[in-house]
Amino acid sequence: MLEECKSDFPILDQIVNDEPLVYLDNAATTQKPQQVLDVLADYYQKDNANVHRGVHTLSERSTARYEAARQTVADFIRAKSSKEILFTRGTTTGLNWVAQFARDLLQADDEVIISVQEHHSNIIPWQQACQKTGAKLRYVTLKNGELDMDVLKEVLSEKTKFVSLAHISNVLGSVAPIKEIAELVHAVGAYLVVDGAQSTPHMVIDVQDLDVDFFAFSGHKMLGPTGIGVLYGKQELLELMSPVEFGGEMIEFVYEQYATWKELPWKFEAGTPNIAGAVGLAAAIDYLNDIGMEHVQQHEEELIAYIWPKLQAIPGLTIYGSQDLSKRTGVIAFNLDNLHPHDVATALDYEGVAVRAGHHCAQPLLRYLQVPATVRASFYIYNTKADCDKLVEAIIKTKEFFNGPI
Ligand code: PMP
Repeated sequence: MLEECKSDFPILDQIVNDEPLVYLDNAATTQKPQQVLDVLADYYQKDNANVHRGVHTLSERSTARYEAARQTVADFIRAKSSKEILFTRGTTTGLNWVAQFARDLLQADDEVIISVQEHHSNIIPWQQACQKTGAKLRYVTLKNGELDMDVLKEVLSEKTKFVSLAHISNVLGSVAPIKEIAELVHAVGAYLVVDGAQSTPHMVIDVQDLDVDFFAFSGHKMLGPTGIGVLYGKQELLELMSPVEFGGEMIEFVYEQYATWKELPWKFEAGTPNIAGAVGLAAAIDYLNDIGMEHVQQHEEELIAYIWPKLQAIPGLTIYGSQDLSKRTGVIAFNLDNLHPHDVATALDYEGVAVRAGHHCAQPLLRYLQVPATVRASFYIYNTKADCDKLVEAIIKTKEFFNGPI
């Protein structure tokens, strides 16, 4: 149904290793439609100027586009106000900012809860916050490839101050029941931080309905440019938070020995922001809104349902995570026989199929699964059933190359 949108992505129309490119590394980053590339060029061709400072026309236009982008993001994730939208470099920066805020609040007896399936960017900032404050970092384990809610309930207590979890795992593709988790976390008086890097590109996000306190995501994983991301925070919490970076743009008055900050959201945005990035992200959101996030999700569900039995039929192929398709999104991590995932990914690249191999920035998860690495295929709006067929065909070819005919 969405297949025709592939022609909007010029990069996909190319030959790699004598084969038409099949791009299945979307969990790492997505490609950009011509519509986003055009908006970026238009911004630089017509309106480029620094924001918030100039009184000249270009600066006013540039500021208007930057702030309109903030409103587009606020509407996309159903935030109450655009004051709750902070532009960052990406998910990693957003999570670091919240963990920095946590450092100001945590005390030695407090606890922070994350899970074994987190991306490194939702582990290391919390390790640092706990090391600096003496707070304890506790982990939720998995059951059938999903967060074990019984373990979460066990580790939650009045000592818990922050719970920080991925909405969707970048390896297992499983979706965490964030709304239910928010109720549990708030019942003990803690804050819920959500890593939305893998959910925001693929499903409807409503931060008010989910009742999350903080929510971070990256533009480049949802058709936008690299170097732009978003940290959402409830307004009353952002008011409490101190800026993490200091300098121009974020100040109200500067005296010799002290300074005062601008109001939200600008107190967090020190220095010249990534104006074109924000404008490009808004163009990506416009593109996704034209399709409808329900359709984006439905398209990926259809692709996964299509490829699943074909992958299952390949002898020696192990898929990690839940085997229940209703609990999975468009990420499939697998291994083939005892072949090294890097060999498999290289062989697939010879067939024009781009997948990722490695630990996917989730070493604790792979240790937990007791595998050193996996291959990962991840899907997006422009992928087609023909792409699925090509992946399956290329895996079978790889298996026959290394092990002989099936
Ligand atoms: N969390 C998850 C679940 C991710 O998949 C990623 C990107 N692979 C990140 C965080 C980090 O995102 P970024 O590198 O854009 O900051």
